[in-house]
Amino acid sequence: MHFTSPDATTIGKFEKLSEFEHLLHFVSTRVGGISTGSFESLNIGFHVGDDNFRVLKNRKILADEVGVGLDKFTFANQCHSSNVAIVDSSGRGKGAMEQETALANTDGMVTNVPYICLSVQVADCVPILLYDPTKEVIASLHAGWKGTLRKIVTETVGKMVQHYGTKAENILAALGPSNGPCCYEVGNDVVREARMTLGNTYAIIRPSKTPGKFIFDQWAANRRQLIDAGVKEAHIENSGICCQCNHDQFYSNRAGQGHTGRYMAGIMIKKH
Ligand SMILES: [Zn+2]
Repeated sequence: MHFTSPDATTIGKFEKLSEFEHLLHFVSTRVGGISTGSFESLNIGFHVGDDNFRVLKNRKILADEVGVGLDKFTFANQCHSSNVAIVDSSGRGKGAMEQETALANTDGMVTNVPYICLSVQVADCVPILLYDPTKEVIASLHAGWKGTLRKIVTETVGKMVQHYGTKAENILAALGPSNGPCCYEVGNDVVREARMTLGNTYAIIRPSKTPGKFIFDQWAANRRQLIDAGVKEAHIENSGICCQCNHDQFYSNRAGQGHTGRYMAGIMIKKH
């Protein structure tokens, strides 16, 4: 992943997805917006207690930066589920200007319709972008520990395969900045649930330095789910950036003790 405009509205891009001229994608940071205090400064989340006017302005700053009208962005009302929506042109712009119109109870979105910017907002959870360059299908999804255990990745890849005829081996996958294995501590409850749903948690869960706590490697868990779904290991790009270690550049719910903003990842097909 590389970054542009280090002094202005900083935007990250994945190396593999950057190879396609007609594909737009980006990861935002917390740099370059107008929110203040614990939301400083490019908070794009309406639902976190920030001033709505400022969030809308931040979204417009970001939309200008990436060169796409905000009315092309589609947001979901994320709820740590494994629910995946097929988005058609009627979904374009949902949730972009206000939270109320965001797609309800949805954590993954898939489309092949050009000029819909599928958007996922996070602060610790893993934002994942998928692209099938053969069938021209894109997806965005939100995978925190709950979504990961509910197999949001498996569900989203499955939707691409069933609905659009995607071959999983053609999918490029990009895992954005999120809480990394350096920091993401969980308790026994998560470990129990992970063992129940994932079975083998080798390289996904290990003891933490804190007694009685464990490290849950969200990146490893989602990478394994992608590979199990048929995605080639060489087609997976992980930013490897931990938002808790880098909380001056990214929002981290844990670093902000539950009071913080959201950054986002977006993906859009530009051609017909
Ligand atoms: Zn970290």
